[in-house]
Amino acid sequence: MKIRVGFGYDVHRLVAGRELWLGGIKIAHTEGLLGHSDADVLIHAICDALLGAANMRDIGYHFPDTAEEYENIDSKILLRKTMALLRGAGYELGNIDATIAAERPKLNPHIPAMKQTLASVLEVGEGDISIKATTTERLGFTGREEGIAAYATVLITQN
Ligand SMILES: [Zn+2]
Repeated sequence: MKIRVGFGYDVHRLVAGRELWLGGIKIAHTEGLLGHSDADVLIHAICDALLGAANMRDIGYHFPDTAEEYENIDSKILLRKTMALLRGAGYELGNIDATIAAERPKLNPHIPAMKQTLASVLEVGEGDISIKATTTERLGFTGREEGIAAYATVLITQN
């Protein structure tokens, strides 16, 4: 069995007047993430980690942000398509470990729902998806609440 690792990173700006979507769920907050899609920064980092593990370029290559069909798209659809690309190439997910860097809102209460949602989109067990949340101690753009960053590592296997 072949084992491969991948890494993904994404950032979106926080602005007023947008819904906040993270990990496939909507979270009540005074601001939301700005982007061509729903700007779900965690899902985008996971997609990039999956594509990177399979050496299949990146999310912008497969789902260009200039394409009208992806405007305001639910990122869960992009994640489902990404996993289908990998399965089409004979890969299966081993596990995901991800971290969201955000000063606010408090994300820990939402992590079980994110794990459940992503597990169902990816058709894997919740035990294969780890999501962590951290602040950056008020430092940097995440600390100033100008944006939210997400990091993801994944392991994939090929028989
Ligand atoms: Zn993104």
